[in-house]
Amino acid sequence: MSAVMITRKVRKWEKLPGKNSFCCDGRVMMARQKGVFYLTLFLIVGTCSLFFAFECPYLALHLSPAIPVFAIVLFLFVIAMLFRTSFSDPGVLPRALPEEATFIEMEIEAANGNVPAGQRPPPRIRNVQINSQIVKLKYCYTCKIFRPPRASHCSICDNCVERFDHHCPWVGNCVGKRNYRYFYMFTLSLSLLTIYIFTFDIIHVAMRSVDYGFLNTLKETPGTVLEVLVCFFTLWSVVGLTGFHTYLISLNQTTNEDIKGSWSGKNRVQNPYSHKNIFKNCCEVLCGPAYPSVLDRRGLMQDDPAGAAASSSASSSSSSASSASVTEPQTTKPKAPLIPNEHTPEDAKPSIAESPEKSPSPKEEPPENFPPLASPETDAETCIVKDKNH
Ligand SMILES: [Zn+2]
Ligand SMILES: [Zn+2]
Repeated sequence: MSAVMITRKVRKWEKLPGKNSFCCDGRVMMARQKGVFYLTLFLIVGTCSLFFAFECPYLALHLSPAIPVFAIVLFLFVIAMLFRTSFSDPGVLPRALPEEATFIEMEIEAANGNVPAGQRPPPRIRNVQINSQIVKLKYCYTCKIFRPPRASHCSICDNCVERFDHHCPWVGNCVGKRNYRYFYMFTLSLSLLTIYIFTFDIIHVAMRSVDYGFLNTLKETPGTVLEVLVCFFTLWSVVGLTGFHTYLISLNQTTNEDIKGSWSGKNRVQNPYSHKNIFKNCCEVLCGPAYPSVLDRRGLMQDDPAGAAASSSASSSSSSASSASVTEPQTTKPKAPLIPNEHTPEDAKPSIAESPEKSPSPKEEPPENFPPLASPETDAETCIVKDKNH
């Protein structure tokens, strides 16, 4: 034991599980699939560049120099909100440390007792009371925690995210507790920018048509025609998305909850987070406190060559509201019998007789190199909820 151990210190983000990508030494955090994000950036920058090149000189000369100035300010604001949404931690919850996971398994076993062979174990759910409503906390088999209220597991990023709204391929990140307001400001400002450019494109064409004729104007300004087309098709989806999120904010509800019908339909549970007042709900969502990241992704940790600590890279202050408190490691306890990764609903689980000892079912738990799940959803026109435990 007296041998010299050469240990290297690494940043915690280098060892984080999940499928995020990092750059700038952990300061920037995104999903791994960024193709659609680059398309978003290209469309915004491209359309605005055409506007600045073709319309702004003419409009500044014939109408007002304030037109390009306001467009530049709005453009910079849109880009700032996009980067703020895309590059930040949306509210990822650290996974349980091995000792925490073992402890939670023991707690669940103790609560459930012995399940007879051939019977399904009861669902792993805890109930909490929030504003006199009973809210269920579901267990996440990947993160090995009971998720806090409103959290959900994003199957693309492979992390539980607090106040999970949805995974947005257009911004290349999850939208959750820490970046929702920036996402909303992004969609709102992008709607204004699209309407602004579209309107002044039309005015520009109309003014030039008086002097040169309509067809000649179209021939002379192909950039304007392209902008009008891009803005026209973007307008509906972006303005529609902004309207939808305005509606959700007024109810203090998330996209995930809306799609699942968490506060309506069969459950008939009232939204315990709503203040029953549109103004208060908007204030809370848009002007509430800014939450710090609980990942501590730029913190230092000892590099474990065996990689055994990979899943423990989350901050030691982990699992804010979710998992139970950390207790002493139960070293004498054999490894808890993990029920094979039920991401599927209870009715799809295999019976317990089929093998706790067997290798995990390939259908239920994607291995580390499981191919990205995004394909069907990323084609959709707007953002989609990707919730594994739906
Ligand atoms: Zn999870
Ligand atoms: Zn995600």
